[in-house]
Amino acid sequence: MTPRPLFAPLDRVTVEQIPFRASDGTELGLCRLTANSPTAQEPTDRPAVLLLHGLTASADMFVLPETRNLVDALLGAGYEPWLLDWRGSCRLPHNEGRVRYTFDDVALYDIPDAVSYIRDRIGGRQLFVVAHCLGALSLSLSMTGGLVPGLAGVVAQGVFMTPKYSARSRLLGHLGGEWGRSRWTHLPVDFTKVGFRSRYTPMFALASLSAGDCDDPTCHILHNSAWGTGASLYVHENLHETTHGRLAELFGSAPTWIGPHLRRMELAHTAMPWNTGGQGYDRLPENALDSADRIDCPVLLLSGSDNKTFHDSNELCYDVLSSRYPDLDVRYVEVPGYGHVDPFIGRGAALDVFGHILDFLDERSAAPSREGVPAGRVSEGSRSSR
Ligand SMILES: [Zn+2]
Repeated sequence: MTPRPLFAPLDRVTVEQIPFRASDGTELGLCRLTANSPTAQEPTDRPAVLLLHGLTASADMFVLPETRNLVDALLGAGYEPWLLDWRGSCRLPHNEGRVRYTFDDVALYDIPDAVSYIRDRIGGRQLFVVAHCLGALSLSLSMTGGLVPGLAGVVAQGVFMTPKYSARSRLLGHLGGEWGRSRWTHLPVDFTKVGFRSRYTPMFALASLSAGDCDDPTCHILHNSAWGTGASLYVHENLHETTHGRLAELFGSAPTWIGPHLRRMELAHTAMPWNTGGQGYDRLPENALDSADRIDCPVLLLSGSDNKTFHDSNELCYDVLSSRYPDLDVRYVEVPGYGHVDPFIGRGAALDVFGHILDFLDERSAAPSREGVPAGRVSEGSRSSR
C-alpha cells in the first residue's frame, strides 16, 4: 500500500517519496521536498521543517499548485520541508478502514517515528515542526510525553493542547455523536461518490440549507457543517476558485469513532490520551497541560480570528501556558479575517500568514546564513510572553 500521489507541481518541486511505516506497523506517507533549482543539488545546511496536516486532510494542503503555498515559501526562505501523512490522512485508507486508531497512536508512533527518521537523515541540522489542527493536538501529546525532545521550534495552527468548540458544536457532539457513531463508521465529503440515494444524503441536505450562492455539496459539508459537527473549516471568500473546486481532493472521510476522544478532551479543554496504560500508552501524559513543563522549545500559537472550528482555543492555550509556565517561550499570533484551515490553503495565505511562520523560524534558526536576522514581526493583536 502506498499513499496516492501528491498533487504537487513537479515543475517547481522534486518530491522524494519515502516508504515509511510507523513502529506499530501502520503504513504512513513521508516525503522530502526540494526545489528544482541548481542550489537544490548542493550540500545543504538548511534547517528542516516537518509539516503536519489536519484530520482528513493530507500533505496536499501544503503544496497547492494554484497558490503560493507553504512549501514554496519555506524553500524560498532557505528551509527543507518534509511532509508526513499521518494515519488520519486522506491519501491513506485508514479513516475508512476496519482498524481503528486514536490520536494516542499518532502521538506515540507517527510523529516521534517521523521525527526520528528525519533526524537520521539531516544529522545535526535543526528540525522545526509546523502543525495544523489535530496534527498539532497530537503533537502536543508527543511533546508533553517527552517523545520528541530537542525540536528547534513548533508552530501550532488552529488548536494545540486546549481544544474548545462552540456551544452548538458541543451540543451536537453530545446529542448526535453517539447516534451517528452507531450508524456510520465514517462521514464522506464527496457527494459524487456518495450519490443521491445514499444513507448520507440527509447529512448533505442539511448542510446545503445555509449554502448561500455556493452549489458545491462538498463545500456545504466542510463550510456549513464540518461533517455534521456544526463547525466551519474556512472563510469562504478566502479560497482560490481552483481550491474551492477541488475540496474533495483535499479533504476526505471523517471517522466517527474518534468522536468520544475529542469530546473528552474538549470538555476538559486539554489534550489527553484515550487509552490508559499498557502497549506503551502510559508514555503519554494523563493531561497535556499538567505536563507542559516538558516542552523544551519555543512555540508559536497561530489562529485565524474567525476560526469557527476550534474558535479561540489557541488564545486560551497561550493564556494558560504563559500563566502556568512563565519560563516557556510561547507566543500567540491571531490573523485577522481567517478561519480554521485557510491560514494554510487560503489564496492570500502567503501574504497574510506565512510571514508569521517564517519570522518565527528565522528568529530561532541557527543556520549561519541566518545570523543577524532581525527580530520577527508581531502583528497587531498578537501577544508574546517574551
Ligand atoms: Zn463553496
